[in-house]
Amino acid sequence: MDYDVLILGGGIIGCAVAYELSKYSLNIALIEKDYDIADDVALVNSSIVYDGVECEDTLMAKLEMMGNKMFDELSTRIDVPFKRCGSLIIAENKEDEERLNKMYERSIERGIKNIYLLSSQEVYELEPNLNINVSKALYSKNTGVVCPYDLAIAYGEIAFDNGVKFRLEEEVIDIQKITKGFRVITNKNKFTCKMVINTTPGQNYSIDTSERIYKEKSNLSYFVLEKDYKGDFNNILFTLNGLRRRILTVPTVQGNMMVAVNTKDVLGYSETLKKISELIGDIDENKINAFYQWPSYKDTIIIDESLVDKGYIKVVGKHYGQVTMTPSIAKMVCETIISNINCVLKKDFIDKRRDFYRFRDLSNEDRNKIIKMDKRYGNIICTCQKVTEGEIVDAIRRPLGARTVEGIKRRTGVTFGNCKGSECFSKIVKILARETDKKITDIVKDSKNSKIVSGRIKEFSKV
Ligand SMILES: Cc1cc2nc3c(=O)[nH]c(=O)nc-3n(C[C@H](O)[C@H](O)[C@H](O)COP(=O)(O)OP(=O)(O)OC[C@H]3O[C@@H](n4cnc5c(N)ncnc54)[C@H](O)[C@@H]3O)c2cc1C
Repeated sequence: MDYDVLILGGGIIGCAVAYELSKYSLNIALIEKDYDIADDVALVNSSIVYDGVECEDTLMAKLEMMGNKMFDELSTRIDVPFKRCGSLIIAENKEDEERLNKMYERSIERGIKNIYLLSSQEVYELEPNLNINVSKALYSKNTGVVCPYDLAIAYGEIAFDNGVKFRLEEEVIDIQKITKGFRVITNKNKFTCKMVINTTPGQNYSIDTSERIYKEKSNLSYFVLEKDYKGDFNNILFTLNGLRRRILTVPTVQGNMMVAVNTKDVLGYSETLKKISELIGDIDENKINAFYQWPSYKDTIIIDESLVDKGYIKVVGKHYGQVTMTPSIAKMVCETIISNINCVLKKDFIDKRRDFYRFRDLSNEDRNKIIKMDKRYGNIICTCQKVTEGEIVDAIRRPLGARTVEGIKRRTGVTFGNCKGSECFSKIVKILARETDKKITDIVKDSKNSKIVSGRIKEFSKV
């Protein structure tokens, strides 16, 4: 057998499963079709760590509650910023109030603690900048924010350091059952393994018995606001659907604010701006850093173990709270695997991400210390986000290092500022080409078809 376990998909679920399994004496590989892990939906994400209050489905609420409880310890251990900022679910009218009361009773039955029904006056005391008519709100101290791709990368880096092989740029074509395990066929190789964990949502291989259709879909249109946007809110805010739009605002761990509207139809920029202003007042458009639109799902997530006796587990479904559920899903999948395969806990498992410096968060004294060690930390490349050459080089050379401009962006924060990379983009491309020993014309933004420089304007035999 080539491997004991093959994990298909390098999204946040695949990376979390790889991390949990890397604690055991197993020969593991993860196969991802893109150039980088966490390259898919994890970037476009509202970053909320839910607590099961808002969730209609009891099973999904349970997964959220379990995941939520794990975040404090997990984020400290694997060095990923996480903030329990709290949330307010706001009722604007009698109809909303009834829904809120039911939500509160349901949450108490679910055993969720630290939740309170607040009067409108209490809400305005907590959030004086609110623009809407609040009649009541459900306040939760449990809800938090995390950076989903940072979490996925941290999981991936630790798994990599503990021996998981990451096979990037390799697409799974099929999975076949063989006498003592599986044959996984990719566009480049054929691997045999004892167990397969499939975390590629929407993919169906010949071993799969049922096709999954995603139907519980709505659309999220949102703005990321500049860090100096005035009129900040401390809590995550949600409106209910009473006035036929669900608005939310999130204070992200990076210090920006994200404001979004969730609707059945896709909204354009101006409609989104209008709807969001109903909650937080007029937005100065110069303070809008980015506008995204993305489908949002609320399917039931199923850990399909129907073929576990043969060695196949599939994580099916898409849900708006899947990042929250990730630690609990990964633990459950891992427990199933280790009870079906012969292995022991590794004695030399290193449960730590390799250290890195965030120049913008350091004191001048600390900055000077690291510049003395490596002068590339004294060369600012992204002036908006204060990211240095040293950090970019580290992002490329670290375990599972960045191979694309998008990968550097996620690892360091470059180009997230208000110039969107107009000043630093070409410098980043040059560093990436130099560090990976590639031609500038071979550097990509994120995927195969995203070359940044298509070719030279003039070719000379000698320069
Ligand atoms: C708009 C939006 C906002 C969200 N906000 C939140 C939030 O606030 N809080 C929260 O908890 N959750 C949130 N989520 C949910 C969460 O971001 C996603 O559900 C989660 O990132 C999905 O992770 P995944 O690993 O299951 O899937 P993916 O990220 O899709 O990963 C699957 C991976 O498999 C790879 N792959 C696919 N096919 C193949 C193949 N054939 N071969 C090899 N590799 C393959 C893909 O390239 C991909 O990297 C949000 C989701 C969306 C869309």
